[in-house]
Amino acid sequence: MTINDDFVFKGIPTRVLFGAGTLARARDEVEKLGGKAALVLSTEHQSAEAERMVDDLGALAAGRFCEAAMHTPTDVTEKALGVATSVGADCVVSIGGGSTIGLGKAIAIRTGMPHLAIPTTYAGSEMTDILGETKDGRKTTRRDPAIRPNTVIYDVSLTLSLPKALTVTSALNAAAHAVEALYAPDGNPIVSQMAASALEALNRGLPLIMKDGADLEGRRQTFYGAWLSAIVLGQAAMGLHHKLCHVLGGSFNLPHSETHAILLPHTAGFNAGAARAALAPATDLFGDDLGGGLWDFAQSVGAPLRLADYGFTEADIPRAAEIAGTDRYDNPRDFDAADMTRILTAALNGDRPETF
Ligand code: NAD
Repeated sequence: MTINDDFVFKGIPTRVLFGAGTLARARDEVEKLGGKAALVLSTEHQSAEAERMVDDLGALAAGRFCEAAMHTPTDVTEKALGVATSVGADCVVSIGGGSTIGLGKAIAIRTGMPHLAIPTTYAGSEMTDILGETKDGRKTTRRDPAIRPNTVIYDVSLTLSLPKALTVTSALNAAAHAVEALYAPDGNPIVSQMAASALEALNRGLPLIMKDGADLEGRRQTFYGAWLSAIVLGQAAMGLHHKLCHVLGGSFNLPHSETHAILLPHTAGFNAGAARAALAPATDLFGDDLGGGLWDFAQSVGAPLRLADYGFTEADIPRAAEIAGTDRYDNPRDFDAADMTRILTAALNGDRPETF
């Protein structure tokens, strides 16, 4: 490959364990972090996993808190901090998706406690220095190196329980990080290679899982792709796609991974012509008609295609386009309200997108 531009590679400070059965090494990893009293975090839905982790950690576990919630509400964080203090916790272990890892980050940044994250979805929060929190219904996002978990354990076996619907949307959420990293203004050759490998692994793994949710090779490929996508999410600035998803999640309360899954073909199709060279790894996999190719792939793995199925309506489009036009993210192709209206209308109705 030719290296046309100077670049900065920011480095990856996180220690990562990847494999099947790696969860068994959590105790050693807590010890390596100097933890003697870990607070284990999960959602209520995954409290059994948290309980198992407490058992595995034995004397190194101080307690558990199983009330992690979507968008990291600060009142939940405050409650968790109260528990951390009352049990004398000196580190946090978060086991779950982006919501639980967000809670771990919120505690770590407030207390300076080390954080071991154990992701069970493909959302990718574990490899970033980004924390989104909600207070009184308003979401704010900040970046700080101290938000990054110190250690991440990817255990493929934990993803076997991920329902097929969440598997698909979460994997497409990961794919969206990789696609946007390919054309990111602060990208670099390493980020591009990781993003390309991420898309390859997701494209290979997801169809295997759709045939058989317990296909370990499919799960391994998809989790590997998700890890790489998570790294590039933490390394490169995201564009129009993430902006629209943040608007739909933050102002219209649309669900996170479903929104990413539905919008990706439309935003990729919109940017394809303006970033043709950068997107070559994606067009190699999904075709020159990138929007249509990604939409066909999404349809073939049973992904949701219509924002209308999640409560978004035609009447919401003008306000969404207006909010998306403020505080803009860098994007390879300039966009105006008419462009966003076209993208959102197609995504609302589940139309196969145009590629420009
Ligand atoms: P989630 O964490 O909200 O999980 C959704 C549901 O699935 C929860 O009930 C969870 O317990 C359950 N679940 C998770 N893994 C499971 C498994 N293996 N088996 C069975 N059930 C399982 O969903 P998500 O999509 O992972 O995360 C979304 C949140 O993460 C959003 O709030 C988003 O903003 C945030 N996020 C943040 C970043 C970042 O860098 N800060 C990155 C990505 C996502």
